[in-house]
Amino acid sequence: MTARELAFYLLGRHSRIRYPHLDIIMAAVLSDKNGNFGWNINTKGLRGGIHAEEGAFRRANPKRLCGATLTVVGLRLESGNLLCSRPCERRCLGLAIKHGIGKIEYINQARIWVVEVL
Ligand SMILES: [Zn+2]
Repeated sequence: MTARELAFYLLGRHSRIRYPHLDIIMAAVLSDKNGNFGWNINTKGLRGGIHAEEGAFRRANPKRLCGATLTVVGLRLESGNLLCSRPCERRCLGLAIKHGIGKIEYINQARIWVVEVL
């Protein structure tokens, strides 16, 4: 399963039924040439909680982070619409840079995949 496939799988798996407190769901996947090695979803909605990226970093093997790819997707549960899923500048982007992540990929406002080299 590619990182993008896993990210979408996580969105589908963790539905409103299991997490009724969520208004949005974000999924983050860390991968390198050997495959996916860390992933998670957010613990709350738009306000507070652990962001998906933070959860993924916590669960990943730190030795594999340098040069890895961070993939993020998200949707609003009520409408099912995809959200712009660029890692937030306040917390997650800095975390990615700190860990030496090589590139980030996310869905933009036009719902197209964007890849950014960090
Ligand atoms: Zn964030």
